[in-house]
Amino acid sequence: MNYPRSAYLHIPFCHRRCFYCDFPVVPLGDKASGGNGPGSSSIKSYLEVLHREILLVDQGKPLSTIYIGGGTPSLLIPEQVVGLLDLLKLRFGFLSGIEITLEIDPASFDEFSLRGYVDAGVNRFSLGAQSFDDNVLHKLGRRHTVSQLNDACNLIADTYRKGYITSWSLDLIQNLPGQGLLDWEKQLLKAIEFSPPHLSVYDLSIEEGTVFSWKIRRGEMDLPSHEISSDISKLTSQILRKKGFSRYEISNYAIPGHASRHNRVYWSGANWWAFGLGATSCLAGKRYSRPRKRKEYEKWVKTQELHGKNSALQISNHYQSIPFDELLIVGLRRREGIDFRVFGEALGWDEKNLEANILNLKMRWKDQLKMGLIKESGYRFCLTDPDGMELSNQILVETLIWWDSLNNYSSL
Ligand code: SF4
Repeated sequence: MNYPRSAYLHIPFCHRRCFYCDFPVVPLGDKASGGNGPGSSSIKSYLEVLHREILLVDQGKPLSTIYIGGGTPSLLIPEQVVGLLDLLKLRFGFLSGIEITLEIDPASFDEFSLRGYVDAGVNRFSLGAQSFDDNVLHKLGRRHTVSQLNDACNLIADTYRKGYITSWSLDLIQNLPGQGLLDWEKQLLKAIEFSPPHLSVYDLSIEEGTVFSWKIRRGEMDLPSHEISSDISKLTSQILRKKGFSRYEISNYAIPGHASRHNRVYWSGANWWAFGLGATSCLAGKRYSRPRKRKEYEKWVKTQELHGKNSALQISNHYQSIPFDELLIVGLRRREGIDFRVFGEALGWDEKNLEANILNLKMRWKDQLKMGLIKESGYRFCLTDPDGMELSNQILVETLIWWDSLNNYSSL
């Protein structure tokens, strides 16, 4: 097996559930902490199961990237992060230059814990800022305030300037209820003042079962119109490009050399380990999803232990091959787009099929190609920035219709 070089660890705890979030998280209250604070026994017992899950694997290659995400991993005290990283090192080994990212929430860490994470081996932080407006943060159901966010940005930026970490990223959400172009510009410029070398800018998406979906259904919340949200997205791309950022994926911007190596693994179709509640790993091109409920996850780990080491690599009923339509969508979201010759090779297309299928796709994309939303170079196609990326939805829909038509008429 081509063993993964990357590992994801899921820490499912949060202080509270934000109004837009449908992740598998366990809210522990605003005062929770992994040390001895409220909720600490829940965190400790989860970590014990997570350690046991990691111990279930005793094969693999040294790792090149680790991502500790959640949830709010900065609820863990540094010693708990040390414990997890030591275990991964013992199991797999680390390649030199390994990228170790920790998601971090403003108001859940201080100078000492930040230093502790760095001493544990973390060399990249991803800070969930979301907004620099107290009113918006409140409407999102976030716990932190702008003043806490400013302190968090200053602390991380200072840690980066002093060379203790290799990079850091700031997450923002755009196209929020009531947001206008000027508000957004102010938010983005404020974020850039802290000079993060990487920015993730996500569009708000309304997920079923969240407070936001309920508010929308009751007519208590309005999202920006299509025109405004398209202007907001274009403005993001223009401002960040002027500031030297390169858009390497629809929602991700980096100063050269600061793209997240770990995220690129997900988008490239390579394998990765994943451990923890609801986490999905990819081995030998197949997905493996763990239960999203805590009791079920614990039971699942126990069952794997009964089956013996590496059983999680062999039991097939949770496996799902990565569907090609997903590879298409993920591929088109990246700056480099998709090389259809390589894509076709994976599907066993011969030269005749390749030409016929590409011709067919170009017919579907006729308007978008004419409008300059898609760039063509040999067999490689990618979305242009900002126009193609802003109108990506329509392009992705056309691509999926093309994909379905190939399957329906067996022209593969
Ligand atoms: S902090 Fe992040 S993971 Fe936790 S509830 Fe809020 S959005 Fe979800």
